[in-house]
Amino acid sequence: MERYLTKNRNFAEYDSAFSEAKYVVLGAPFDSTSTYRSGSRFGPVAIREASINLESYSLRLGRDIDVLKIFDAGDLIIQGTIEENLSCLRLVIEEIRSAGKIPIVFGGEHTITHGCVQAFNDVALLSFDAHLDMRDEYLGRKLSHATFMRRICESIGSDKILEIGIRAVCNEEIEFVDRENVAYITSLEIIKHDKREVTNKIRNHLSRFEHLYLTIDMDVLDPSYAPAVGNPVPEGLSPTILLDLLQNVCEKNIVGVDLVEVSPHYDYGVTAFQAAHIAYNVIAFIENRSRTKSDS
Ligand code: MN
Ligand code: MN
Repeated sequence: MERYLTKNRNFAEYDSAFSEAKYVVLGAPFDSTSTYRSGSRFGPVAIREASINLESYSLRLGRDIDVLKIFDAGDLIIQGTIEENLSCLRLVIEEIRSAGKIPIVFGGEHTITHGCVQAFNDVALLSFDAHLDMRDEYLGRKLSHATFMRRICESIGSDKILEIGIRAVCNEEIEFVDRENVAYITSLEIIKHDKREVTNKIRNHLSRFEHLYLTIDMDVLDPSYAPAVGNPVPEGLSPTILLDLLQNVCEKNIVGVDLVEVSPHYDYGVTAFQAAHIAYNVIAFIENRSRTKSDS
C-alpha cells in the first residue's frame, strides 16, 4: 500500500510496526467537494500535531493506554477524480482490514467515509453528525459531503444506518429518511432527554448488528467546542456527552473508525485538540472492550 501514501509525524508518537500494530492511523486529506469552509485537507496534520501532547492515562477507563499498538501509515496521496481517490482509500483500508487491524482514518471531508465503508463486507454504519448528508444530489454532484450517506444507503441498505446528533436537515432528506426508515437521533433529543433513555435507544438499535463502522463528523459537537469545521451548526453536543455516547457504543465490535471535517484554519487549534482527544479515547474504548473480553 506504500505507493498510495506520504509520511509525516506519527499520531501521539506511537511507533509500532505495521506487523505488530492493532490500530492503523491513516490520513485522507481530501476536501475537493467542500462547499462552504474548505480546508479539511489540513485536518490530518493538525490532528496529529494536537495529539502529541495527549496524556496516556485514561481517567474514564482507570488505566494507562500507552500500551496501545498503533501504526501511523501517513496520508493518502490525493490525485485524480473523487472516484479515484475513494477507490485508492478503499484499497488501503482493505489491506489494513485483511491484515486483521482496525483503521482509524482522519479526514478530510465526510465523503471519505464512502470509500472506507466500501472496504468492509456486511457492516452497519454509525454516524455522529449534525447533518444527515442524505441529499440525492448537491450542487450538481451525486457524490459529495452532502450526498455520500445516500450513496452508502443504496449500497449497504437503509436499515444498517444510525445517525446521531442531527440538527441541520432539508425537507428532501427528511422525506427520504422517513420513507426508507433510516434511524436517526437529534441533538435536542440527546440534550433535553434522559441520557439513559437515549443510550438504551442506541443500544437497542445496534443490538442487531455484529460489526460496526463508526464515523464522527466533528460538527456533531457544538461550534463553541469545535468551531473549525466545514459547516458549523449551533445546538450541538458537548465533548463530554459525545464521549459518554462513544464509550457506550464502543462496547460493540468496531471494525473501523473515521473522524472528519476538521478545517483547522478556522480556529487556533481547539477543534484539532478535540478531534485528537476523541480519536485517542475511541481507540482506548475499543482496546478496553477487547481486554475486558479476554479477561472474562
Ligand atoms: Mn457529515
Ligand atoms: Mn456535518
